[in-house]
Amino acid sequence: MEFSQLKELDDKYILNSYKRYPLQVVSGKGVYVFDENGNKYLDFLGGIAVNALGYSHPKVIKAIKDQLEKLIHISNLFYTETPVILAHKLCEISSMDKVFFCNSGAEANELAIKLARLNSNSYSKDKTSLVCLNNSFHGRTIGSLTVTKNSSYAEKFLPLTGEAVFININNVEELVNTVNDKTACIIIEPIQGEGGINLASKDFLQQARCLADKYNALLIFDEVQAGLGRTGDYFSYQFSAVEPDIITIAKPLGAGLPIGAVLMKEKIAKMISYGDHGSTFGANCVTTASALAFLEVIEQDNLLENVKSVGNYLFNQLENLRSSYSFIKEVRGRGLILGIELEIPVGDIHLSLMKRGLITNSTSERVIRLLPPYVITKNNVDEAISIIDGVFSEVKS
Ligand code: PLP
Repeated sequence: MEFSQLKELDDKYILNSYKRYPLQVVSGKGVYVFDENGNKYLDFLGGIAVNALGYSHPKVIKAIKDQLEKLIHISNLFYTETPVILAHKLCEISSMDKVFFCNSGAEANELAIKLARLNSNSYSKDKTSLVCLNNSFHGRTIGSLTVTKNSSYAEKFLPLTGEAVFININNVEELVNTVNDKTACIIIEPIQGEGGINLASKDFLQQARCLADKYNALLIFDEVQAGLGRTGDYFSYQFSAVEPDIITIAKPLGAGLPIGAVLMKEKIAKMISYGDHGSTFGANCVTTASALAFLEVIEQDNLLENVKSVGNYLFNQLENLRSSYSFIKEVRGRGLILGIELEIPVGDIHLSLMKRGLITNSTSERVIRLLPPYVITKNNVDEAISIIDGVFSEVKS
């Protein structure tokens, strides 16, 4: 289909909730996507942190095809193998005890909030306060919006549900003054993705753990964007040695298929009885088979090491650019979740980068976000840096 016709039909029939890039993507291979004219683009956005193995990974395709031919869906009313093996693996890499599978990050956070309610209701009916962070993002459902702090996501949809209290990331004093015996949970992205690539400090995470213990509140880490290998560890909190009660994951887990999960400690799992929660499509045979392939490739191809070494290389190359362009305020992040904060609004820089063959986007007004796949090489980084350099040199002049 011609791009102009596609755009017209899209405008006519698809809900206008996303501002699209003026690009029709028809295929992907490795770290590149291709438009209808065969032009290739190095993808440092990866379906918004989803395509961590790049595109068309042969082991993912094989796992999906094999499962498609056996059984696509049967429901959670029956025993099937792939969700069980996947849950076992997820518990091994996270030190959690039990898993619930859903279909997205927002859904995973919904259950996390329900579990916090379940826990706090066993202490007192007025233990309802949800302690959350400014600049957080946890999804677009009413529950996940309640703990998300960005007025533009929520303000048209008020009222939300529950009592959320927002504090600043890494402000330990505020944390200490806010958490009390009315607190049901503290929910934290150890690296805030949508909020501008802001890193929680070890001290802040440790204090959150101590306070959650002191007041019988749950500590929830939302690892939907930064988790599952993106930082070079399986989880972005692991640098801190803090153990949460609940971890939520999604984005890269299904290697492109929709699956989310809530990982939890046994003491929380024990509170759930039959019928307390559910999802028709959760633990689907194909999405869990794809997720198993994703974890296997990470392990077999030693991708955590690649994320660390190529991530450091990318970070250093961006730091070098900073010395040439005074409008670069800061480069931050860990592994392959990096942000370039500018002194000026990002505006259409992502479109200029795309015209030269590099796909990125911005989070918050001034941060260009880079989320390349775990399989990138230093050569791919050099290619990206030369494109960024070219675009920045035009911004400068
Ligand atoms: N949590 C975090 C940290 C996210 O970055 C996102 C999505 O960007 C979500 C939750 C929501 O995930 P989903 O879009 O799969 O519902």
